[in-house]
Amino acid sequence: MVSYDRIVKLSLERGFYFPSSEIYSDSPAGFWEYGPNGNNIKNKFIELWRRELVRRDDMVEIDGSQIMSKNVFIASGHLDNFSDPLILCSKCKSVLRADKFILEKEGINVPERIPINEVDRILNQYNLKCPKCGSSFQKTERFNMMFKVGIGPNNDEAYLRPETCQAIFVDFPRIFKIMRGKLPFPIAQVGKSFRNEIAPRQSLLRLREFYQAEIEIFCNPNQLDAIPKFDEIQDTILTIDDGTIISKVTAKEALNRKIIPNKLIAYYLSILYEFYEKTGIDMNQTRFRKLSEQEKAFYATIAFDFELKTSVGWLELVACNYRSNYDLSQHSKISKEKMEIMDPVTNEKVLPHVFELSLGIDRSIYSILEHCFAEDHENNRVVLKLKPYLAPLLAAILPLVKKPELEEIAKNIYYDLKKDFDMYYDGSGSIGRRYRRLEEIGVPFAITVDHDTVKDSTVTIRYRDTMEQKRIQIKELKSFFEKTLKP
Ligand SMILES: [Zn+2]
Repeated sequence: MVSYDRIVKLSLERGFYFPSSEIYSDSPAGFWEYGPNGNNIKNKFIELWRRELVRRDDMVEIDGSQIMSKNVFIASGHLDNFSDPLILCSKCKSVLRADKFILEKEGINVPERIPINEVDRILNQYNLKCPKCGSSFQKTERFNMMFKVGIGPNNDEAYLRPETCQAIFVDFPRIFKIMRGKLPFPIAQVGKSFRNEIAPRQSLLRLREFYQAEIEIFCNPNQLDAIPKFDEIQDTILTIDDGTIISKVTAKEALNRKIIPNKLIAYYLSILYEFYEKTGIDMNQTRFRKLSEQEKAFYATIAFDFELKTSVGWLELVACNYRSNYDLSQHSKISKEKMEIMDPVTNEKVLPHVFELSLGIDRSIYSILEHCFAEDHENNRVVLKLKPYLAPLLAAILPLVKKPELEEIAKNIYYDLKKDFDMYYDGSGSIGRRYRRLEEIGVPFAITVDHDTVKDSTVTIRYRDTMEQKRIQIKELKSFFEKTLKP
């Protein structure tokens, strides 16, 4: 397996991502930027998510504000509950996140909602001291991860959203009405969220500003098995770890054996699985892990994490939470607005429950890079085997040598194809070196214009993964590329 450091090296060299404000010494940790190649992959990943989840399931998508009112987060519970256990060295004042520190030192998983006196007890029991100066810690505190902002000249208190979904909850009654919704009613959103992490690290894996793609499925709690679409996915095979046993079962079996509680959850876990199958990650290294009472987020009653094995261990890519009516009832209570709707199918008045698929985009991008990275020692090359529809560029047009008659044809092909596809033109340097650069950023095809092109209007198409070359008519290129873009 390729190392985490190797992927970061590739990303810095090839412009996938790099630290923000990096020319300044006060650049804060936990903020990274996508360069041109990384940004293209991110946008294509989002497009695939739209295709395989939003459009497949007839979801609606919104784009909400990143800054929201204080009351939103009083209602959501984030101002009270959204915190990590923090320890401070009594001598050198080093600050650490207690749960991560205990996991690193003793291999003990500290649950998210552990009482802080329990953290102090563990620190004492294992005699854990400051890794910098060896002194003991002050009493554990809870650190709230919300980013506060001041609005307007009066500095009115508001917050950057810590998850995109709060706008979806607040907007739900309006959207349900104007879209003439029926339950289950999924609302999707892609955007940035902000968490003031105590110890951000590992580039895209724990950021303070990050991308989420969230789907909130509003449902009637009495109709969780009335899901006709379930038939579509009943044979999809999922790996589920319920904390005691790991089962590899079809969605139907998981339901019969009560590993998954209802058809609604089984359906959405399955279409999520089928989406990730198309990203190029190794699905044999994935699992849905059912979270214990103590591990779940404060708003969840049932929770599965979709996890992927990577060089840094199991990585949570999607949190799948059954949030019950927690959010809608809280917003209703604090705002005094009615959040109930009429379910047009059953004709009952209902405060919908919510099941969510909260997907981390940045972690998914990192995972795709790592799982697609291949070292081809025989040919002394690095190949990023990205799916054509996720590659930053689909193909490059290369005149074999720097001759005006070849360059003219190559440029014409380039200008024609770039109207429909992400193309690249590279007219100089040895052809071998040009291929290597393209392989490292995952460009699946290279089109070479040579002396035969002048005679018979054919070009060479070279496949990144196999290095196989074929001749093809210039006029056939467009339909060739269209076919490769189908997931
Ligand atoms: Zn210290």
